[in-house]
Amino acid sequence: VVVYSIAESIVKDSSFDLIEHLAYEIGRKVISSYEMIDAVKVLVRKPDAPVDGIFESMETEIAVRRSEAVISFGSNMGDSEQTIRLAIDAIKQIEGVEVKRCSSLYWTEPVGYEDQDDFLNGCLVISTYLKPTELLHNLQKIELDLGRVRTIKNGPRTIDLDILLMSGVRLDTEELTIPHPRMYER
Ligand code: AMP
Repeated sequence: VVVYSIAESIVKDSSFDLIEHLAYEIGRKVISSYEMIDAVKVLVRKPDAPVDGIFESMETEIAVRRSEAVISFGSNMGDSEQTIRLAIDAIKQIEGVEVKRCSSLYWTEPVGYEDQDDFLNGCLVISTYLKPTELLHNLQKIELDLGRVRTIKNGPRTIDLDILLMSGVRLDTEELTIPHPRMYER
């Protein structure tokens, strides 16, 4: 009944250009409302879709599921400890992300471009139902908000946030590679 009322209110109160978007909205609302739910499958069937051809209905099925992910962070400019604290607070605020564990912080020597200060590094384990690219975009926004200025590849930075691993995810696109290819350098 509760799931029904979530679906009903979304269908009544909003309009979507694609039935896929409607399905995702329902899936996300259900998974975000119940922490014990790990995965939701949503089937949307639309009769009388305004499309040429002979058919009874259009349908789509989507899945929204929680993954565990490991996010690494590093900083070697400004007050690194404070910046990392702010980054972790910002990650906790991302809708659809729950921070589960946080490592200790470690000072490490720079890799690649070596004529720069040591980095303060660490990582977080999170649970999220966001898609990998959505998670990346949220992390990139936090990097920008915290004033990251990137001039030299592998050079100094106020904060660098990377997705190292995500359960059930293997990706290799121009924008995003998971597991992170240089994970073992970190
Ligand atoms: P970096 O300078 O190391 O922060 O690299 C930034 C670029 O790496 C971004 O433009 C991302 O699109 C890309 N990238 C590829 N895979 C990943 C990943 N697993 N985590 C974060 N950024 C990634």
